[in-house]
Amino acid sequence: METIVVKFGGSSLADADHFRKVADIVKADPRRRFVVASAPGKRGDGDTKVTDLLYRCCDAAAAGGDWRGVLAQIEGRFSDIIRDLGLDFPLEHEIAVIAEHLASGKPRRDYMASRGEYLNSRILAAYLGFPFFDAEQLIRFTPRGTFAEGATNALLSKTLGGAACGVIPGFYGATEDGTVFTFSRGGSDVTGSLVARGVGAAVYENWTDVSGMLFTDPHIVADPRPIEYITYRELRELSYMGASVLHEDAVFPVRKVGIPINIRNTNRPGDEGTWIVKQLPQGTRTRTVTGVAGKRGFCGIQVEKAMLNGEVGFIARILDIFAECGVSIEHCPTGIDTVTVIADAVGFNAHRDEVLQLIRERMQPESLIVEDDLAMIAVVGHGMVAARGVAARIFRAVADAGINIRMIDQGSSELNVILGVNGADFEEAIRSLYREFR
Ligand code: ASP
Repeated sequence: METIVVKFGGSSLADADHFRKVADIVKADPRRRFVVASAPGKRGDGDTKVTDLLYRCCDAAAAGGDWRGVLAQIEGRFSDIIRDLGLDFPLEHEIAVIAEHLASGKPRRDYMASRGEYLNSRILAAYLGFPFFDAEQLIRFTPRGTFAEGATNALLSKTLGGAACGVIPGFYGATEDGTVFTFSRGGSDVTGSLVARGVGAAVYENWTDVSGMLFTDPHIVADPRPIEYITYRELRELSYMGASVLHEDAVFPVRKVGIPINIRNTNRPGDEGTWIVKQLPQGTRTRTVTGVAGKRGFCGIQVEKAMLNGEVGFIARILDIFAECGVSIEHCPTGIDTVTVIADAVGFNAHRDEVLQLIRERMQPESLIVEDDLAMIAVVGHGMVAARGVAARIFRAVADAGINIRMIDQGSSELNVILGVNGADFEEAIRSLYREFR
């Protein structure tokens, strides 16, 4: 029988009602054998995620402050779930172990943060009647806290290979001698992906509180259409530009072996959600544009010098200045006599004077202009390679909305076209692209 690995995010496991929905989903398909769980998330606006409470608790203890009140709050979150589900669970003992760690005077943030996933997964395992597998024994980190991919993969296939089912906490792992480390925030997605690869799953289902990805940001376009299929590569382009549905590192493990990810909604389990795949299944309609995403907060540093194209190494030397000053760059469109470097405004402004000074000294430009407040918009779609006239449609749509395009960059893979517009035009440009390609 095929295996499906299911991962439930914090909002899907925030309270007992959600635990019931999760159990219904797991029990609805016998292939859903391995479950990766997050810590309880927000139950509504104004609520706090358990992971945030754990960090707060740890910081209070490290500063010699009052951590007991926060720990009591955390305990309350779990005891509500346990009581409501009618479970017999040794919560007091587990909280006493955490309290002992906090009282030691040297609490570790990673260990503390991991307790949210640890406890929630143990409770879920008890509720589902599944065995619990601690991520400490499955997800390996080196003593310096770097994720150890090879060791992890071996541990996962060896340990879970012989198991019929199980619940595994997301977000953390440990060194061989048991020192706990976490991935970055949202890292349970990564654990889910690793488990899916480790057990050779047919599908990695990632359950959250939205029915998959949308063509564009619903805060900008009302009710954008959902994305049914998106390739791993397209997803990468869109997430880089701010469309967040999954932890960035969660794609790599499954992508390597071609396991599709299905983003699903715990509150609407009947929705198909979004499929993240290597290639679209045969017969699926290829859309010219899969999605549009964008970000504000960029600067354009335009360097102009006559006969620039004759100077060997000119661009490299400009880029070196940015590297030397520790400013990472996003794009670098060039003209015959101009080079524009697009950089994140926060990063650039931190070293602005230094960078401009060095450009003036070393490059002797005729003009050096900084354009603040640029926004970048990525129009992404693997269907663009085959379709003629897409660029023309993009530019016409934006021009018809009365917007001036400040920069154009087409990725060499022909998977995306990136437009730079003034920050003030950002939202209208996205709306015009939606009207054209929805
Ligand atoms: N609980 C962790 C966080 O809030 C990890 C996760 O939910 O994926 O970031």
